[in-house]
Amino acid sequence: MGKGLLIVMSGPSGVGKGTILELLRAHYEPERKVFLSVSATTRGMRPGEIDGYHYHFIDREHFVELRDRGELLEYAEYAGNMYGTPASPIDSHIANGDIVVLDIETRGAFQVMEKRDDAVSVFIMPPDMDELERRLRGRGTETEEQIQRRMAISRSECGHAEKYDYIIYNDTLDNAVEAFCKIIDTNLNGDVK
Ligand code: ADP
Ligand code: 5GP
Repeated sequence: MGKGLLIVMSGPSGVGKGTILELLRAHYEPERKVFLSVSATTRGMRPGEIDGYHYHFIDREHFVELRDRGELLEYAEYAGNMYGTPASPIDSHIANGDIVVLDIETRGAFQVMEKRDDAVSVFIMPPDMDELERRLRGRGTETEEQIQRRMAISRSECGHAEKYDYIIYNDTLDNAVEAFCKIIDTNLNGDVK
């Protein structure tokens, strides 16, 4: 197996990024590992989240330390909390042949695009904003205030979609996963993005 691939994925909260990633895993594993980068965040844990698996849940002081030591590939503030990508695991996973996915918001994604010209960037779009709000509400993990805040950020994030190498519309999960696999397979085979 040759080298893996670095994918930077963004898309509004609730569009289905996490769900798509689980299906990508099911598609590629065990032959090829899909390594989902575990970010550091100052956000509180949601019910069901596991420290070290979904995120490294840390306080602001620890986050600032990591940032100042240069251990984060990128970082950004989102809805009042800090999020950042630990740099060190990425290259070893790529060398291993893994598909490495960063699920990060747009400002962090632009930092990665600047620093890593091997990164393939993908933006996941909702069919429309009403459907996005339905999905976000349906997930049932945010308060009304948080939903409104995330919807406002989402409107502005979707305006940046054109800056990504690829846009995928998550109308049905089957279509979205098929489109994503095609992008991964094309780039794994060394074709230009
Ligand atoms: P994100 O990781 O982008 O915040 P999630 O993966 O948590 O989003 O998805 C938000 C909600 O939308 C979940 O309840 C998920 O089951 C649902 N969902 C995801 N994709 C679709 C789709 N294509 N059609 C309908 N519902 C979807
Ligand atoms: P959530 O709180 O729903 O888990 O994530 C909120 C937003 O933060 C999502 O858009 C998610 O992609 C983004 N995010 C998660 N981890 C990181 C990270 O390490 N860096 C950046 N820039 N954004 C992140």
